[in-house]
Amino acid sequence: LASPPLAPTPRPRSIFALTARFKADSYDKKVNLGVGAYRDNAGKPWVLPSVKKAQAALIADESVDHEYLSITGLSEFTSSSAKLILGRDSPAIAEKRVASVQTISGTGANHLGAVFLSKFYDYSKLAGGKRQIYISNPTWANHKAIFNSVGITPVDYPYYDAKTVGLDYSGLTQALQSAPNGSVFLLHACAHNPTGVDPTREQWHQLADIFESKGHLAFFDCAYQGFASGDLDGDAYSVRHFVSRKTIPVVICQSFAKNAGLYGERVGALHVVSATQEQNDAVLSQLSVIQRSEISNPPAFGARVVSMILNDASLWSQWQSDVKEMAGRIISMRTALHDLLTNRLKTPPPGQSGSWDHIVKQIGMFSYLGLKPEQVKRIVDEGHIYMTGNSRISMAGLTTGNVEYVAGWIDRVSR
Ligand code: PLP
Repeated sequence: LASPPLAPTPRPRSIFALTARFKADSYDKKVNLGVGAYRDNAGKPWVLPSVKKAQAALIADESVDHEYLSITGLSEFTSSSAKLILGRDSPAIAEKRVASVQTISGTGANHLGAVFLSKFYDYSKLAGGKRQIYISNPTWANHKAIFNSVGITPVDYPYYDAKTVGLDYSGLTQALQSAPNGSVFLLHACAHNPTGVDPTREQWHQLADIFESKGHLAFFDCAYQGFASGDLDGDAYSVRHFVSRKTIPVVICQSFAKNAGLYGERVGALHVVSATQEQNDAVLSQLSVIQRSEISNPPAFGARVVSMILNDASLWSQWQSDVKEMAGRIISMRTALHDLLTNRLKTPPPGQSGSWDHIVKQIGMFSYLGLKPEQVKRIVDEGHIYMTGNSRISMAGLTTGNVEYVAGWIDRVSR
């Protein structure tokens, strides 16, 4: 007698299907531009030299044991990661208004932040009282899943303008203005995933003005600090600016997956910035209570590696140059692709964008090419170049060895 299924089969995820197709493809020039992790110019994963050194030192240190960390994690890690994102001289840190908890990388930080909001955010003060979070259209696919799973409904706000292959700034500001006062908005701190399109500094200032006047909460997801521009401070600009306003409630999800190449080690933190030290103490206690039932205590090894890097002068300077190297390689691939399409091949640009400049203007790991789904289909099926149907490519998948081949196919389907 067959027993009833315990669960229905979920809908297949297209990115996993894409990776499976890439693996099964035997064509020698195949290229994977779907991968969400850094690759070196030989297309291989890269262990950062700073991480290698810290790892070796930890393994050699006989005093390092495998005891549990505390519920909120390794305190040297959480305090130094707060300084990394907020700045060493951050008044919020000095005034003890930042509650920092070590999490299971950026995903865990988003989840812990989501549970925290679902339990404690006062949605009853909002006109309509709806338990919602506004997320950019498009956004990292997991945002929807994470907030849905805790009973907070994700609602799209306009972000990407397909016509200009850039930011829909007026759509974004209108959404902020028309949302009920006190709404929660999720923002990508830098290197927006999947579009690579970020507001300018001037626009961040204006956005902060609206947050202030509307009493909105800014929920920052920061998965690419340093990875975007190569400058760890520069990439923290949006977050630091919002926190400097003092009147905007700010939550920050921080991941060390990309900027330290510690993907599988799951190193991250959640930082909640309160208005007073008293409020901060309550927040930290409540986060500890949630964390206890979720994971008890976070994993130690990766946090020790990052903590060592952030607190040792020579590892810190090595890491800064490692981050620059990754960002630099990605930026150079953007320039190479842009140059091939614009100057060498004179490829007709997509839509009404008028140029391929969006490739060099967008930042971070990803780029939206602005191609139509039928063009993408030809590139995948005939060119063996794997990318998602929205023409998002991971710049990390490009190398000096394959960029001409990729440009050739973009050119072919654009004519
Ligand atoms: N947030 C964004 C926007 C991301 O792109 C990612 C990873 O791709 C994450 C969060 C979380 O990644 P992780 O859980 O590996 O830190």
